[in-house]
Amino acid sequence: MKFLLVFDFDHTIIDDNSDTWIVNCAPGRKLPDVLRSSYERGKWTEYMSRVFHYLGDQGVRADEMKKMMTAIPFTAGMHELLNFIAQRKHMFDCIVISDSNVIFIDWILKGSSLLGVFDAIFTNPANFDDFGYLVVQNFHAHLCSECPSNLCKRKILEEFVDVQLQHGVQYTKIVYIGDGGNDLCPVKFLKKNDVAMPREGYELHRWIMQMSPEHASIRSYIIVWSTGFEILSYLKLLLEDSFEN
Ligand SMILES: [Mg+2]
Ligand SMILES: [Zn+2]
Repeated sequence: MKFLLVFDFDHTIIDDNSDTWIVNCAPGRKLPDVLRSSYERGKWTEYMSRVFHYLGDQGVRADEMKKMMTAIPFTAGMHELLNFIAQRKHMFDCIVISDSNVIFIDWILKGSSLLGVFDAIFTNPANFDDFGYLVVQNFHAHLCSECPSNLCKRKILEEFVDVQLQHGVQYTKIVYIGDGGNDLCPVKFLKKNDVAMPREGYELHRWIMQMSPEHASIRSYIIVWSTGFEILSYLKLLLEDSFEN
């Protein structure tokens, strides 16, 4: 018996958005208006590419970015939650699916020595080029009309579950923990026995509440959370129940 825990990153594991937090590295801690207003819906990676290019032009380099990123606070209770999971890895597989990028997530999780909890991290590839500029790429291409062009979290989750099945791992239950609008698509992939955990008051929660029952394409059970402590309480119940059965 094994559970799959799927974590979003921004506003879930950390209590802010890494892509907007990086703007603190810009002169005056803000972007020029022309850059800020250049965002087009669904094209977040392209927008962030322009932001990183601007930061590069301003002389912002990796060490400064890293210092800024590792200062982002974790969501309350997340350390306790992830440590609890780390001690029970025989019961839990644990992955991150995020629209941030691999450099930011590595810095932040390594800095807190939480990287080892996760079996896989799915996020946009990134690297520093020869001039010291951060360059980010699309995670993949997909045909989903609901998701930003660079990343459909449902596709990633579906493929992960498929690959695991081919390796003989079938999950008793999937628990999906997230906050954002792009977490809705993977939540719709969940089955009746699974659990969606939207963060209270955030976009995913608002989307779920707006859905009328007859149109609801969500089959999973829904549990709202505000801090990692509530998720931890739920996981404890889950383990108690599974040992009783
Ligand atoms: Mg998020
Ligand atoms: Zn999608």
